[in-house]
Amino acid sequence: MQDTFYLSNDRILRTQTTSVQARELQKKELPVKVASFGRVFRNETEDHSHQVMFHQFELVWLEEGLTLSNLMALITHVLKGLYGKRRKVRFVPKFYPYTDPSIGPQIDCALCRGEGCAPCNGAGWVTIAGAGMIHRNVLLEFGYDPEKVSGFAFGLGTSRLATQFFGVPTMRTVYDNDFRRIQEGA
Ligand SMILES: [Zn+2]
Repeated sequence: MQDTFYLSNDRILRTQTTSVQARELQKKELPVKVASFGRVFRNETEDHSHQVMFHQFELVWLEEGLTLSNLMALITHVLKGLYGKRRKVRFVPKFYPYTDPSIGPQIDCALCRGEGCAPCNGAGWVTIAGAGMIHRNVLLEFGYDPEKVSGFAFGLGTSRLATQFFGVPTMRTVYDNDFRRIQEGA
Protein backbone atom coordinates (compact mmCIF):
# COMPACT_ATOMS: atom_id res chain seq x y z
CA MET A 1 0.00 0.00 0.00
CA GLN A 2 2.80 2.41 0.86
CA ASP A 3 6.47 2.53 -0.03
CA THR A 4 8.65 2.53 3.04
CA PHE A 5 11.81 4.42 3.92
CA TYR A 6 14.49 1.90 4.91
CA LEU A 7 17.34 3.30 7.00
CA SER A 8 20.92 2.09 6.89
CA ASN A 9 20.76 0.76 10.48
CA ASP A 10 18.08 -1.87 9.64
CA ARG A 11 15.30 0.36 10.92
CA ILE A 12 12.38 1.80 9.02
CA LEU A 13 10.28 4.94 9.32
CA ARG A 14 6.69 3.97 10.13
CA THR A 15 4.18 4.41 7.30
CA GLN A 16 1.15 4.47 9.60
CA THR A 17 0.14 4.47 13.24
CA THR A 18 -1.91 1.26 12.98
CA SER A 19 0.47 -0.67 15.24
CA VAL A 20 -1.12 1.19 18.17
CA GLN A 21 -4.49 -0.31 17.25
CA ALA A 22 -3.03 -3.82 17.10
CA ARG A 23 -1.76 -3.58 20.67
CA GLU A 24 -5.18 -2.49 21.94
CA LEU A 25 -7.01 -5.23 20.02
CA GLN A 26 -4.82 -7.82 21.76
CA LYS A 27 -6.38 -6.88 25.12
CA LYS A 28 -9.71 -8.46 24.09
CA GLU A 29 -11.84 -6.15 26.24
CA LEU A 30 -14.95 -4.80 24.54
CA PRO A 31 -15.70 -2.18 23.49
CA VAL A 32 -12.39 -1.15 21.95
CA LYS A 33 -12.26 2.56 21.15
CA VAL A 34 -8.81 3.79 20.27
CA ALA A 35 -7.54 6.94 18.64
CA SER A 36 -3.90 7.05 17.62
CA PHE A 37 -1.96 9.82 15.99
CA GLY A 38 1.57 10.72 15.07
CA ARG A 39 4.00 11.50 12.29
CA VAL A 40 4.27 8.96 9.47
CA PHE A 41 6.60 8.73 6.47
CA ARG A 42 5.93 7.38 2.98
CA ASN A 43 8.40 7.11 0.15
CA GLU A 44 6.17 8.50 -2.57
CA THR A 45 6.17 11.32 -5.08
CA GLU A 46 4.98 14.63 -3.65
CA ASP A 47 2.13 16.47 -5.33
CA HIS A 48 -0.75 18.75 -4.36
CA SER A 49 -2.18 16.24 -1.92
CA HIS A 50 0.70 13.91 -1.01
CA GLN A 51 3.81 14.43 1.11
CA VAL A 52 6.57 12.12 2.26
CA MET A 53 5.77 13.08 5.87
CA PHE A 54 2.43 13.93 7.39
CA HIS A 55 0.52 13.64 10.66
CA GLN A 56 -1.92 10.77 10.74
CA PHE A 57 -4.99 10.38 12.92
CA GLU A 58 -6.60 6.96 13.19
CA LEU A 59 -9.60 5.57 14.99
CA VAL A 60 -10.67 1.98 15.62
CA TRP A 61 -13.96 1.04 17.28
CA LEU A 62 -14.89 -2.57 18.01
CA GLU A 63 -17.99 -3.97 19.72
CA GLU A 64 -21.11 -5.99 19.02
CA GLY A 65 -23.50 -4.67 16.41
CA LEU A 66 -21.47 -1.99 14.65
CA THR A 67 -22.34 -1.59 10.97
CA LEU A 68 -21.10 0.26 7.90
CA SER A 69 -23.99 2.70 8.40
CA ASN A 70 -22.58 3.61 11.85
CA LEU A 71 -19.18 4.28 10.27
CA MET A 72 -20.60 6.44 7.47
CA ALA A 73 -22.76 8.38 9.93
CA LEU A 74 -19.78 9.01 12.22
CA ILE A 75 -17.55 10.21 9.38
CA THR A 76 -20.31 12.43 7.97
CA HIS A 77 -20.84 13.91 11.45
CA VAL A 78 -17.11 14.62 11.85
CA LEU A 79 -16.71 16.17 8.39
CA LYS A 80 -19.88 18.28 8.61
CA GLY A 81 -18.80 19.39 12.08
CA LEU A 82 -15.39 20.39 10.81
CA TYR A 83 -16.27 21.95 7.46
CA GLY A 84 -19.87 23.05 7.98
CA LYS A 85 -23.17 21.60 6.85
CA ARG A 86 -22.93 23.10 3.36
CA ARG A 87 -19.95 21.00 2.33
CA LYS A 88 -20.98 17.85 0.51
CA VAL A 89 -19.83 14.43 1.68
CA ARG A 90 -19.88 11.24 -0.39
CA PHE A 91 -18.31 7.79 -0.20
CA VAL A 92 -16.54 5.82 -2.94
CA PRO A 93 -15.47 2.16 -2.85
CA LYS A 94 -11.81 1.56 -1.95
CA PHE A 95 -9.50 -1.35 -1.34
CA TYR A 96 -7.55 -1.67 1.88
CA PRO A 97 -6.16 -5.05 2.96
CA TYR A 98 -7.43 -4.95 6.55
CA THR A 99 -10.97 -3.71 6.01
CA ASP A 100 -13.89 -5.13 4.03
CA PRO A 101 -15.83 -3.35 2.72
CA SER A 102 -13.54 -0.34 2.42
CA ILE A 103 -14.68 3.18 1.66
CA GLY A 104 -13.11 6.51 0.74
CA PRO A 105 -14.95 9.50 2.26
CA GLN A 106 -14.78 12.52 -0.05
CA ILE A 107 -15.80 16.16 0.27
CA ASP A 108 -16.41 18.69 -2.47
CA CYS A 109 -13.17 20.55 -3.17
CA ALA A 110 -12.84 23.82 -1.20
CA LEU A 111 -10.86 25.49 -4.00
CA CYS A 112 -13.22 24.91 -6.93
CA ARG A 113 -16.46 23.98 -5.10
CA GLY A 114 -16.83 20.84 -7.18
CA GLU A 115 -16.01 22.40 -10.57
CA GLY A 116 -12.65 20.63 -10.91
CA CYS A 117 -9.18 22.17 -10.48
CA ALA A 118 -5.54 21.08 -10.44
CA PRO A 119 -5.31 20.37 -6.68
CA CYS A 120 -8.28 17.96 -6.86
CA ASN A 121 -7.05 16.53 -10.19
CA GLY A 122 -10.11 17.87 -11.95
CA ALA A 123 -12.48 15.65 -9.97
CA GLY A 124 -14.16 18.34 -7.90
CA TRP A 125 -13.92 15.94 -4.94
CA VAL A 126 -11.10 15.26 -2.50
CA THR A 127 -10.62 11.96 -0.70
CA ILE A 128 -10.23 13.05 2.89
CA ALA A 129 -9.81 9.73 4.72
CA GLY A 130 -9.62 5.97 4.35
CA ALA A 131 -12.09 3.79 6.20
CA GLY A 132 -13.85 0.45 6.37
CA MET A 133 -15.23 -2.42 8.40
CA ILE A 134 -12.48 -4.44 10.04
CA HIS A 135 -11.84 -7.56 7.94
CA ARG A 136 -13.15 -10.79 9.50
CA ASN A 137 -9.67 -12.36 9.18
CA VAL A 138 -8.28 -9.55 11.35
CA LEU A 139 -10.98 -10.24 13.95
CA LEU A 140 -10.17 -13.96 13.88
CA GLU A 141 -6.45 -13.23 14.18
CA PHE A 142 -7.07 -11.27 17.38
CA GLY A 143 -9.40 -13.93 18.81
CA TYR A 144 -12.76 -12.21 18.25
CA ASP A 145 -15.81 -14.02 16.84
CA PRO A 146 -16.74 -12.19 13.59
CA GLU A 147 -20.30 -13.55 13.90
CA LYS A 148 -20.75 -11.51 17.09
CA VAL A 149 -18.22 -8.72 17.05
CA SER A 150 -17.71 -6.12 14.36
CA GLY A 151 -15.76 -2.95 14.12
CA PHE A 152 -14.58 -0.17 11.91
CA ALA A 153 -11.49 1.91 11.43
CA PHE A 154 -10.70 5.15 9.73
CA GLY A 155 -7.59 7.17 9.24
CA LEU A 156 -6.81 10.57 7.83
CA GLY A 157 -3.97 13.01 7.36
CA THR A 158 -4.38 16.24 9.30
CA SER A 159 -2.52 18.31 6.68
CA ARG A 160 -4.96 17.27 3.95
CA LEU A 161 -7.80 18.22 6.30
CA ALA A 162 -6.13 21.60 6.78
CA THR A 163 -5.71 22.31 3.06
CA GLN A 164 -9.43 21.79 2.59
CA PHE A 165 -10.24 23.80 5.72
CA PHE A 166 -8.18 26.84 4.75
CA GLY A 167 -8.53 26.41 0.98
CA VAL A 168 -4.81 26.28 0.24
CA PRO A 169 -3.92 24.66 -3.08
CA THR A 170 -0.97 22.54 -2.03
CA MET A 171 -0.27 20.59 1.12
CA ARG A 172 3.32 21.74 1.39
CA THR A 173 2.03 25.19 2.30
CA VAL A 174 0.83 23.79 5.64
CA TYR A 175 4.44 23.07 6.63
CA ASP A 176 6.04 26.23 5.20
CA ASN A 177 5.59 28.23 8.42
CA ASP A 178 4.79 31.30 6.33
CA PHE A 179 3.61 33.81 8.95
CA ARG A 180 1.15 35.43 6.52
CA ARG A 181 -0.54 32.05 5.97
CA ILE A 182 -0.67 31.37 9.69
CA GLN A 183 -2.36 34.73 10.28
CA GLU A 184 -4.87 34.01 7.50
CA GLY A 185 -5.78 30.73 9.14
CA ALA A 186 -5.97 32.11 12.67
ZN1 LIG B 1 -10.82 21.40 -6.91
